[in-house]
Amino acid sequence: MEYLPVFLNVRQGRSLVVGGGDVASRKLALLARAGARVTLLAPEIGNSTRKILANPDYAGQIHWLPCRFDPAYLHAQTLVIAATNDVNVNAVVYQAAKQRRIPVNVADDPAHCDFILGSVLERGSVLVSVTSGGQSPVLSRQLRARLETLIPPAYGQLGQLVGHYRNKVKQRFTETSQRRRFWESVLQGPVADHMLAGRTRLAEDTLNRLISETRPSELSQGEVYLVGAGPGDPDLLTFKALRLMQQADVVFYDRLVSQEVLALVRKEAELIYVGKQRSWHFKRQEEINLLLLEHAQQGKRVLRLKGGDPFIFGRGGEEIATLAAENIPFQVVPGVTAASGCASYAGIPLTHRDYAQSCVFVTGQLKAGELDLNWSSLVQPRQTVVVYMGLAGLPELSAQLQHHGMAADMPAALVQQGTTENQRVWVSTIADLPDLAIREKPIAPTLLIIGEVVQLHQQLAWFSV
Ligand code: SAH
Repeated sequence: MEYLPVFLNVRQGRSLVVGGGDVASRKLALLARAGARVTLLAPEIGNSTRKILANPDYAGQIHWLPCRFDPAYLHAQTLVIAATNDVNVNAVVYQAAKQRRIPVNVADDPAHCDFILGSVLERGSVLVSVTSGGQSPVLSRQLRARLETLIPPAYGQLGQLVGHYRNKVKQRFTETSQRRRFWESVLQGPVADHMLAGRTRLAEDTLNRLISETRPSELSQGEVYLVGAGPGDPDLLTFKALRLMQQADVVFYDRLVSQEVLALVRKEAELIYVGKQRSWHFKRQEEINLLLLEHAQQGKRVLRLKGGDPFIFGRGGEEIATLAAENIPFQVVPGVTAASGCASYAGIPLTHRDYAQSCVFVTGQLKAGELDLNWSSLVQPRQTVVVYMGLAGLPELSAQLQHHGMAADMPAALVQQGTTENQRVWVSTIADLPDLAIREKPIAPTLLIIGEVVQLHQQLAWFSV
């Protein structure tokens, strides 16, 4: 971070603005809105500044001195902004402020700024300030405009309501973690919905009812979220996944979960890697099941983040079976499975009116060095076969499919690290795949797609990195 974002209380001290043009007027308005007492130093002022001076909301806050800058004016100032159109004057103000160790901002000159002013979105006491670090004010303004549409004006009232009931909630729920959970559910539930829809009375009634009816022990109950993290691209997460990621206390993840996705987990959450190798065995899985259980029993909100979809070759069912047996509440959130993610990003439709009316997902994991698959069901006309975990068993897979009647020239694609910046797609035939893999050495995770639809890649590939 190049700057420390802080929100400054400017009501106590005095602030000095040097300059009376448009740029100065914007800074002046911001200071005035924040309740600052400002000395404005400018021999002449423009229209926009004049308007601010005449604004009754700021009556008594701004004192205009129609004079040139002199270091003597810095006396007793706590903040200085130089915004004249004369770089020399700005430089003099800057030097003088520096000498007196008063924080100074020279407008549009990040190199001469102790602080910068962001582009501000105001919703009552809720403030969002956006900065591009002085690189592009236009970019900050555009971002702020996007946030305007995301954060409705009623957020201000919602903030007020929360502020009003803060103490009452504090008395009812003594633990910090209980209060955090209470507010999280209030702000995601009907209270917020009512407030944002303008039903203020109903929102307040509902909040009162929740405060009296929610038992503190309910808020100390552990829970497990089994969440699909998708194939890699964080944009493919569901809203629900993101919301639960933002409220977890502890997160168990494995190597299929991308760094970009992990970066979206709540910053205070404890991250625990339970990485699995290709040859992960029962004991390891049992350990993970127990870890989830133990943490939930401690009253934590446990997020089990799994690559792709937790119920597709993810052993998600086994992990929650242990929880169900112990009556631990849990939720399962689907994710984009590798087959969907890789197929979309490789431009290979899994079904297509002309080529495939069905699609099967199988695991190519070897058991005691062999593949135990229903071969004849895989060798069907007009069907796409997607093989997960198929790299190690590729030679046997290729041989068996041909042995059971699949044409040697059946198109097949390997998709390496689909949907990520390392995505690579190789198109070949079922007979040539093993050699291709030896030659190209794809890096795990890699998915195998077999069927006529693979031909469409050439025409439909769209994702390039
Ligand atoms: N639950 C996961 C699958 C876990 S099995 C899901 O729904 O996607 C692990 C296998 O998934 C890997 O061996 C690989 O074949 C496939 N896989 C997962 N993510 C992938 C990705 N980004 N690109 C290619 N294959 C992927």
